Amino acid sequence: MTFLLPRPDDDSAPFWDWCGKGELRIQRCSACRRRRMPPRPMCPWCRSWAAAWDPVSGRGRVWSFVVAHPPLLPAYAERAPYNVVVVELEEEPSIRLVGGLVTSPDEPIGDVDPATIIIGQPVQVTFAPAVDGIRLPNWLRA
Ligand SMILES: [Zn+2]
Repeated sequence: MTFLLPRPDDDSAPFWDWCGKGELRIQRCSACRRRRMPPRPMCPWCRSWAAAWDPVSGRGRVWSFVVAHPPLLPAYAERAPYNVVVVELEEEPSIRLVGGLVTSPDEPIGDVDPATIIIGQPVQVTFAPAVDGIRLPNWLRA
């Protein structure tokens, strides 16, 4: 049983490459300097095609979460119930990333007791090894 994995395309490949190196980077317009997610070729604010991948702290806060229960794909059903958190980034709260709130960096899926998750709780990104060098961003309590 395997978990679903990202399928990087031309726009998102740099994001996943940086995750594979254990670094969270967000695409940033080189003209107006605004960060954007998901990655895309053109800035939605100033229409510039120039962009770079800027490192961010990896700090954020739980903005929302759900607790997954079956019916689920088999690999996920074995782990249910588990949490899926939406985290707003400290540097750019309008950018929110999805992952699991985990107790260790190697944990591939949210293993924290959902009853203990608090909206607004500070978290720090971590990266769980998946396959083929892909590492998935997850979150540890800060
Ligand atoms: Zn721009």
